[in-house]
Amino acid sequence: MPPHSVLHRWLPGAAQLPGFLAACSVSLVACASDLKPSAPVERVLLITCDTLRADRLGAYGYAHPTTPHLDRFAKKSLVFDRAYSTAPMTTPAVSAIFTGRLPDELGVMNNKVQIAPAAISMTEVISRAGIRTAAVLSNWVLARRGLEEAGLQQGFDHYDDTMTTREANRGHMFERDAAATTDAALAWVKRQQDRRFFLWVHYQDPHGPYTPPEDCLSALQRPLTAEPKLRVGQNQRGLGELPRYQAIGEERSPEAYRIRYDAEIRFFDREVGRLLDGLEKRTLLENTLVVITADHGESLGERNFWFSHGQHLFDELVRVPFIVRYPRGCARPSSAEDRGYRRVDRLVSHLDVMPTILDAFGLKGPQGYGQSLLRAELPEHRMVAHMGAGWFGVTDARHRCFSSRSSTHLYDVEKDPFETRNLAERDGTRVEEMLGRFEILKRGLATVRLEGVAVNRDNAELEALKALGYAGVDEDSGRSEEPGG
Ligand SMILES: [Zn+2]
Repeated sequence: MPPHSVLHRWLPGAAQLPGFLAACSVSLVACASDLKPSAPVERVLLITCDTLRADRLGAYGYAHPTTPHLDRFAKKSLVFDRAYSTAPMTTPAVSAIFTGRLPDELGVMNNKVQIAPAAISMTEVISRAGIRTAAVLSNWVLARRGLEEAGLQQGFDHYDDTMTTREANRGHMFERDAAATTDAALAWVKRQQDRRFFLWVHYQDPHGPYTPPEDCLSALQRPLTAEPKLRVGQNQRGLGELPRYQAIGEERSPEAYRIRYDAEIRFFDREVGRLLDGLEKRTLLENTLVVITADHGESLGERNFWFSHGQHLFDELVRVPFIVRYPRGCARPSSAEDRGYRRVDRLVSHLDVMPTILDAFGLKGPQGYGQSLLRAELPEHRMVAHMGAGWFGVTDARHRCFSSRSSTHLYDVEKDPFETRNLAERDGTRVEEMLGRFEILKRGLATVRLEGVAVNRDNAELEALKALGYAGVDEDSGRSEEPGG
């Protein structure tokens, strides 16, 4: 039996997403009754950055000067080396962060749906405890659409999704750049009388098209490589060609786009630095838990995918930066010093964000796969799951295994971190064992089968989604994408 058949046996329908999503809507497990905050943490700041690969940050070993501010902040924090998103696209990934459950359980497998009112987000739990909650967002797929009680805005007192900057290649699509995002976040902070709050800021800049400020571009300039020039595709897939929405003028050099991507990260970094400085000046960073991560990564040419995401579950799309600054007195996992950073090598997931933040506030939330990272020891033998575009996969301390309808991949990431030698045919037993372990894990949790609520979008917005690379091939069709050579 080929390994991918094994996966289908363990997880019937897993590779036929979203077809197997159950139609019935069941509430998540009820929250614990004790909602009185008792922990020492006064505030939590959650920063998510769109499309930010871990390996492009100085704190993760990148040689070019993309993140001087974040690196400085990371030196006062813990840097988690093995952190994973649940999905390679925005709404599913962020919905999982906020609920602690997987995108298929939430019925949110693409950017056209949002979490149902029955889903309990961490914001609702925090808000019910009387803590102020605010979000400042810059990717319009996260903007409010349709039902007021559905979507990520659930539980937020303040949900700022104002976006007035026109995207470079599609004039009808709006976003908000990093400077305006930081301005909006600081403006909200300034208005707060109550010093206790939960603030979520989502930056959009490293998402294409890459249009960084000139000074950021200059800081990242380097010689172009001798790689063949890319042609501009007719669609947004990025397989073997430049996605149409990414094309900047006549530029066709792959390295020129990597430089532009890096420069967008530098812009984000500068503005995150300004946000953190602004909080520090108001003495609001003390006694604040800060969590910094990305929703997903980006292909920069690996497997012949260019400047795109959403198509598969290889490391470059689901591994994310994960930096946590612990307030004094908070328990934290053991770490090892390495060139000025305290690093944690245990596997963590976006699904840990909700239990960690609730724990910081002294709150209990619904049961999920995650665990609070406010603890001295993290388990050695963990397993985290990922899904999207017809793929399902699991990662453990040593291996990554993922499958589509037509193929299964297994990698020993300790020996092969770039995932170039597929061991699935040779080691079908391990594939079966890993998927079996996940199935047992899943059975141990209360069943969640929600149906996502469709977002209301007009034609211009649907066009813009296509422009962003979201509404094209896989997410609509549920078809899997086979990476090219
Ligand atoms: Zn995203």
